[in-house]
Amino acid sequence: MKWFRKKEAFTLVEIMIVVAIVGLLVAIAVPNFVRARRNARDRICQNNLRLVKHALEQYQIDESLDDGTDISGVYGTIITSATDAYIEDEPVCPIADVAYTVTDVEVDPTCTNRDGDAADPDFANHQLQ
Ligand SMILES: [Zn+2]
Repeated sequence: MKWFRKKEAFTLVEIMIVVAIVGLLVAIAVPNFVRARRNARDRICQNNLRLVKHALEQYQIDESLDDGTDISGVYGTIITSATDAYIEDEPVCPIADVAYTVTDVEVDPTCTNRDGDAADPDFANHQLQ
């Protein structure tokens, strides 16, 4: 029965090897996770902009508006807030929850986050493509 009392433990070298392997896996996974999150946010923002653009086009058709008509005032009231709104819930950019800028029916809506620094990699793709 002596063999049940035998003490076994990991050596320091074994523990260091395991820690190094875990550190290597984390070093590989974190940048990929950050990149995937940024790409997902970019796609969400682009899809929201496309949704807003289509709603504006539908509104233009329904109201027989000429190109260049200023609709910045109706975006918040008719397009997104009315009971028969073109968009049920006003879409917002997933990064900072800001609404999109709409000027007229000819110009694509823009993400307000991109206005600060268009070259910022976090916002570079926050535009219709
Ligand atoms: Zn955005």
